[in-house]
Amino acid sequence: AARKHYPVTKGFISKKNIGTVKAVDNVSFKLYRGETLGVIGESGCGKSTLAKLIMGLAELSGGEIRLNGKPVRSNMPLSMRRNIQMIFQDPYSSLDPRMNVRRIVEEPLRIHERLSKEEKNKIVLPIMEQVGLSADALRRFPHEFSGGQRQRIGIARALMLNPELIVCDEPVSALDVSIQAQVLNLFASLKKMRGLTYVFISHDMSVIKHVSDRIMVMYLGQVMEIASKRDLFGNARHPYTQALMSAIPKPNPAVAKDRIILEGDLPSPIHAPAGCPFRSRCPQAMDKCHIKPEFKQVSEDHYAACHLVNDEVGAS
Ligand code: SF4
Ligand code: MG
Repeated sequence: AARKHYPVTKGFISKKNIGTVKAVDNVSFKLYRGETLGVIGESGCGKSTLAKLIMGLAELSGGEIRLNGKPVRSNMPLSMRRNIQMIFQDPYSSLDPRMNVRRIVEEPLRIHERLSKEEKNKIVLPIMEQVGLSADALRRFPHEFSGGQRQRIGIARALMLNPELIVCDEPVSALDVSIQAQVLNLFASLKKMRGLTYVFISHDMSVIKHVSDRIMVMYLGQVMEIASKRDLFGNARHPYTQALMSAIPKPNPAVAKDRIILEGDLPSPIHAPAGCPFRSRCPQAMDKCHIKPEFKQVSEDHYAACHLVNDEVGAS
């Protein structure tokens, strides 16, 4: 069946300057309804800036992001803002310790709706059950819960306004590895149950592999490669993606491909090299990498920005 085009018809974020840091440069992507788009990159690569832009929490200096055909902006109407929710990295600091769980999860309803206590309960109680928390939890305070449970509270809060799109910014990186899988499975079941679409941001390729339908690889604020999970894991074309892949721990080291070690530190986005941003660390860099490679289509739904790829698929 043909995939339905998601209302975020095109996220064009171009030449975005956050102060003097070109944090998100020339990003272009689509989202499909019901998918999880994983966004991977090292810290400082512009992932969180991208999250803010999608949330309408930062202003675009060029390009546009559209949701349901309407531009996402910091001054977008509340009716639109409620449709995009965010789940944060740190379940410890994103919950107000002085509020009980009922106040925390009901806060979006208080801001956006005028509901009676009964009406609120009709929304709150089923969501608490969906995220795996008892109704009893509503009377308790954040410090009484484990990290994983606190992230469930944050997820419940994000669901209260029944959003279509949820931006998850490193939502499991503050959790113990043993808890991460449980929370990732919760994301998957909520997606099915509620027809959600996720932009899921992480620096951890194992996490991205677990949750994503498609994957976008970012480096210094630019998109290096975007492909379905299958294409990316079976046929990574960008040297940076290949290096990320080679760093994933393999269950059987004897058959694992050699790890590609990247030389040099991650350059500051302020001093991003001209041309290909990955040039200073790329094991395959050549003279022409001083010129910025185009973002080229490799196959259906697979794009990469590298001269090696451009040479193969032909110059335009
Ligand atoms: Fe490496 Fe050049 Fe490709 Fe950049 S364009 S990833 S430097 S080969
Ligand atoms: Mg970040």
